[in-house]
Order: sequence, then structure tokens, then C-alpha cells
Amino acid sequence: MTGQPPAVDLEARLTRVRARIAEAAAAAGRAPADVRLIGVTKTHPPELGRAAVAAGLVSLGENRVQELLAKLPQVPGAQWHLVGNLQRNKVKDVVGRAVLVHTLDRRSLADALSRRAEQQGTVQRVLVQVNVADDPAKHGCPCDETLALVAYARDLPHLVVEGLMTVPPLPAGDDDPSEAARPHFATLRRLRDDARKRFPEVVHLSMGMSADLEAAVSEGATMIRIGTALFGPRQAGPWRPQEVGT
Ligand SMILES: *Cc1c(COP(=O)(O)O)cnc(C)c1O
Repeated sequence: MTGQPPAVDLEARLTRVRARIAEAAAAAGRAPADVRLIGVTKTHPPELGRAAVAAGLVSLGENRVQELLAKLPQVPGAQWHLVGNLQRNKVKDVVGRAVLVHTLDRRSLADALSRRAEQQGTVQRVLVQVNVADDPAKHGCPCDETLALVAYARDLPHLVVEGLMTVPPLPAGDDDPSEAARPHFATLRRLRDDARKRFPEVVHLSMGMSADLEAAVSEGATMIRIGTALFGPRQAGPWRPQEVGT
């Protein structure tokens, strides 16, 4: 399969996504440059990651640690963001490899991340993931515990809490996904504003995906995480390296 071009016209899709960001930013009186685009490559082969980097999109995201580790050596020049749930036993694999962990949602994980960063003589940048709708099926810190978790984590010596992240609940039925997500994005923004009053380094809002980036940008997103709109429909499962010779 080597040498085969990616199945999607990535450059055209990238242009389209950047135009959507620019339009939403202009409507909100924001500068498009204040919205960082993160290409979420989960399930897709590393070729697509390399095509993204070649097209100037170096911020890439994965939701599984194993998949991130498998692609990392195959996509030179990428800066990896971990956007999925993190188990404590995988912390050692992530610290120093992910430029930003978007999914800090509990104190025990903050402790583990800071300890590992200390061992590696580094500082790990993180976002606190918030369960904005307090949906029991979702990961993330409850809204009313967010400030306390930010305060706890930012006091650890080897963590920097740079902002908040959320994945809003799926919209019901025929609802416009962007408008359905808007109140949840507004909630995250209010929580960020509260945190920032005490802790000025808490600036980022990681929110917005393919279907709802307009509302996210309009509500103040500084990082949006886009998979499908850039790379096409997801593959059946996580990407895994092939055995040599098959
Ligand atoms: C998959 C994923 C995305 C990208 O979703 P699309 O709808 O494909 O753009 C964003 N954020 C997280 C946490 C994801 O797991």
C-alpha cells in the first residue's frame, strides 16, 4: 500500500475547514489565527498524518494512547495532542510525547502526570476536561468541581493547566448539532472565565468538532478538534501497524 495517495483530497478539505473557521471567527469579531486547528487522525493510517503535516497542519490529535504511540514515529514533524480518556497506567507513555493532554479529569490522574513529568525532568501541559452536561455516560470533571480540580492540578509542580476541554452530548434527532452544542460551549467558556480570574494561565477552550465548529468558534474556542471533515469517515477500528511482510 505504500506510495498510494490518501483517499481524500486533504488539501481541499483543509481549505474548506479553514474557511469555515474564518467565517465563524469573522461573524464573532475574532481573529481566525486565535483558533488552533487540531486534526484528529484516529483510525486513519499515518499516511494521512504525513499528508496533514505536508499541508501545514502539524497539530494532530489521537484519542487512544496506543494509536498515538504507533503513529508517532511515522509522522515526523507532528505535534500530538491526546484528546481521549487517559488511564493512569498509560501516563508513562504520554508524558513528554503529547504536547498537550486535553483530558485531565481527576486528581489521581493529575498526581500521576506530575510525578511522571518530574521523573522525566519536564513539565506536562494539560487541559481539564469538563463533563458540561453532567452526563453519567461521559468522561470529564463535573462542572461544580472544575475550579477545584484546576486549583489542585496547577499547584502540582510539574503540570501547567492551560485551559478547559469538553465533548458536548450528541444532539437529539433532527437538532442542528452546532446550535444544540452552543449552550454547552457557553458553559465551558463561563467556567474558563471564572478559572482565569484566579489563574491567568487558564486561557484555552478546546471545543468544537466537525459538526459543531461554528458554534464553538462563536463561543470562544481557541482549539478545535476536527476529524471527519478533514480525513473522511472513520475506519472500523484503531489503526495498527501491519506485520512486516504482510
Ligand atoms: C474523534 C474526536 C474528535 C473529532 O470528531 P469529528 O466529529 O470526526 O470531527 C474530536 N474530539 C474528540 C475527543 C474525538 O474523540
